[in-house]
Amino acid sequence: MPEFRFNVLTREWVIIATERAKRPMEFAQTAPRLNLPAHDKRCPFCPGNEHMTSAEVDRIESAPGVWQTRAFKNKFPALDENLQPNASGDLLRPRIDGFGIHEVIVDSPKHNKGITDLPLPGVEKIVESYLRRYRFHAQDPRVKQIIIFKNNGVTAGSSIIHPHSQLIATPILSSQVQERIRVTQEFRAENKKCLICEMIRQEIELNQRIIYQNRHFVSFLPYAALSSFHTWIFPLEHHAHFGSIDDDIIPDLADILYHVIKAHEKLLNRPDYNFVVRTAPIGLPNEDYHWYISIIPRLTKTAGFEIGSNIYINGSLPELNALELRNVVDILKNKV
Ligand SMILES: [Zn+2]
Ligand SMILES: [Zn+2]
Repeated sequence: MPEFRFNVLTREWVIIATERAKRPMEFAQTAPRLNLPAHDKRCPFCPGNEHMTSAEVDRIESAPGVWQTRAFKNKFPALDENLQPNASGDLLRPRIDGFGIHEVIVDSPKHNKGITDLPLPGVEKIVESYLRRYRFHAQDPRVKQIIIFKNNGVTAGSSIIHPHSQLIATPILSSQVQERIRVTQEFRAENKKCLICEMIRQEIELNQRIIYQNRHFVSFLPYAALSSFHTWIFPLEHHAHFGSIDDDIIPDLADILYHVIKAHEKLLNRPDYNFVVRTAPIGLPNEDYHWYISIIPRLTKTAGFEIGSNIYINGSLPELNALELRNVVDILKNKV
């Protein structure tokens, strides 16, 4: 049975999930993604092999009976949705039974087509799937936090090649999220406005780290980016919760995700990467957070100094990284 354990010294929760160790790793013996076939009969995520995955929970179809995106329960879940988040343990060893939801969302029926290989309507369907699953689980009174993320490539933590994303819903909040909320709340108390709205306004005005902007979203590198090409995407309109965005802006979110990740791939030769939707805990007042997406290409490894100090060393200048990415986006958009 999985469980959450709380480290009383670092104030961090850890999920102990020994079942995860049993999952098969596909990567070691497989060819690079560029040379992959559109369909692989051994792949559990390819059409025709639906019986190889755990129970399907959602799908978006491109024609009757033909799925474009498909969501199902993770076969090797880090958490168990049949448990209740009951707390126990003692002062130095707090624990909670490992309730949680762990789902997979497959990007497309094509074995070799992920977010940056699809036409924009295909990317829109991925974003729509994220929203549908997010909104569904946000109704569960046991759920406090929903994280949607993509591990792309083996160094980013992926074990299956067929492009996919994941959703994990937990009954606890990480200390990282709590700290971000505290900072946002403090800023609002002092300045009567949203810290992130202010940051976005200033970044657009300065125009030194902007990669791309469309009608509803903007992407830039953080002023103090922790690592090279670490990138943020923000909605221009203030929303704490990913699930509360207007469905009309899904095409703009698909557009910016596509162009920013595509620029990373072109400039950095298809690096492994993670992206994470960072959204407020369920029920947090709308003024206390501003959701966003982080994209982190896995170009370097975390080393001893970072582990020891939690101070990251970034070997490149965010302004230069942004300019390089912006130039690629400009070419993609046929502006030059
Ligand atoms: Zn496949
Ligand atoms: Zn805001």
